[in-house]
Amino acid sequence: MAGALCRLTIAGDVGGRLHDRGVSLPTRAAGLDALDDFVPRAGSAYARERNADQGEARTNVSGLSPYVRHRLVTEHEVVAAVLERHSLPAAEKFVQEVFWRTYWKGWLEQNPEVWRRYRREVDEYATGSLPTGFDDAVAGRTGIDAMDAWVRELVETGYLHNHTRMWFASIWVFTLGLPWQLGADLFYRHLLDGDAASNTLSWRWVAGLQTAGKTYLATASNIARYTDGRFSPSGLATTARALSEEPLPPRESIPTDDVIGTLGERVGLLLHEEDLESRSLLAEQPGLAGRLVATAVAADPMSRSPFPVSDAVAGFEAAAVDDAAERTLDAGRRPAQVLADTMPSTVLRWAESEGLDTVVVPYAPVGPVHERLAALRPALAAEGVELVTVRRRWDAAAWPYASRGFFPFRERIPALVRELTGD
Ligand SMILES: Cc1cc2nc3c(=O)[nH]c(=O)nc-3n(C[C@H](O)[C@H](O)[C@H](O)COP(=O)(O)OP(=O)(O)OC[C@H]3O[C@@H](n4cnc5c(N)ncnc54)[C@H](O)[C@@H]3O)c2cc1C
Repeated sequence: MAGALCRLTIAGDVGGRLHDRGVSLPTRAAGLDALDDFVPRAGSAYARERNADQGEARTNVSGLSPYVRHRLVTEHEVVAAVLERHSLPAAEKFVQEVFWRTYWKGWLEQNPEVWRRYRREVDEYATGSLPTGFDDAVAGRTGIDAMDAWVRELVETGYLHNHTRMWFASIWVFTLGLPWQLGADLFYRHLLDGDAASNTLSWRWVAGLQTAGKTYLATASNIARYTDGRFSPSGLATTARALSEEPLPPRESIPTDDVIGTLGERVGLLLHEEDLESRSLLAEQPGLAGRLVATAVAADPMSRSPFPVSDAVAGFEAAAVDDAAERTLDAGRRPAQVLADTMPSTVLRWAESEGLDTVVVPYAPVGPVHERLAALRPALAAEGVELVTVRRRWDAAAWPYASRGFFPFRERIPALVRELTGD
């Protein structure tokens, strides 16, 4: 195969239609195929080769992130499949990377003010003025060949290699002197895997805000080495002074209950773009699946940003929602309805038409879906419908350990793997 990433190289037009350039669609089946394909390379080969960005036909990384980010394929499935083929020591690096995602989510869950500030600051740029150099940077006209090529790759494919994301963010902040929030927003609007926690906190990490005082400086020699000489930009910043910010409020604790709310008589399930795999979600809640009188799916990619979100992201999420709808049956074996959006009026109309008194949703971690659900809850309650959230075991077990840096969290990974996968 030409690499899972080729499967994901898609572009959508304004209507969100997907053009398949010889690549698979954003479905769970395609995600499971990509996982199957990658598993043999998840051991020592991944540990050795993962930092190189070979260009678009990459085979050294999995390309699974758009699937995992939408939970078309779950972290549990990825780790379990890899550990069926490799021992944990052999696949340690890969498993740790999957847990980076979990770590970032758990950390942001305990520090939601970071997300609120980021949202406010991006909003301020959207309604105010944009800094000099921003338009050239997003149009690929910085004159730094690597940056200009990467911005085109980001826009055209909805993906960048991890190392390239680090170089990009570093050059954006320290060479171009642009605000990190606008760089994070650019990524978030274009990455098919765009994720509130992984994206925002990785940008903060590069800028020296996440690990206070510790920055990431991109150098021409490192870029040349890991791009096999494809790029060797000149004129890059030679120092990276950490940005600073107002101190954060004390960390918030994570709720201990996995099910928040009480199920009534007529229960519907509403999936959203944070979690599009109902079977494993419901398997953790015995009794719930048999009670679902209706199911629905909705996503709102535009809520990622006040700036325009890419057609590729919109197209990916629209197709992923359709795929989830086909797989998510109610007790009468009807597939899920696709709702146009998650506006309270739309969800209420669906709840009323199905006579629901309870709408169950997968727990949405800090981010746009969380914000939407926060607005939905009181609107449903006013009409006598309770919004109940169900959190996965994976998140419940791991998030509490994401209270400090990644290194103490990493120590917990073997025990978490044993607890969550039985390995
Ligand atoms: C500035 C910056 C922004 C980023 N924004 C995002 C984002 O919006 N969404 C996102 O999913 N990842 C983000 N990452 C992390 C990482 O770059 C991508 O997850 C990875 O490149 C996805 O490619 P892959 O699936 O081939 O990864 P692989 O190397 O094959 O890793 C397997 C899986 O582990 C997870 N993963 C790997 N590395 C990381 C990491 N450093 N942090 C968190 N999870 C990781 C992903 O789910 C990935 O699919 C960002 C990193 C940086 C430096």
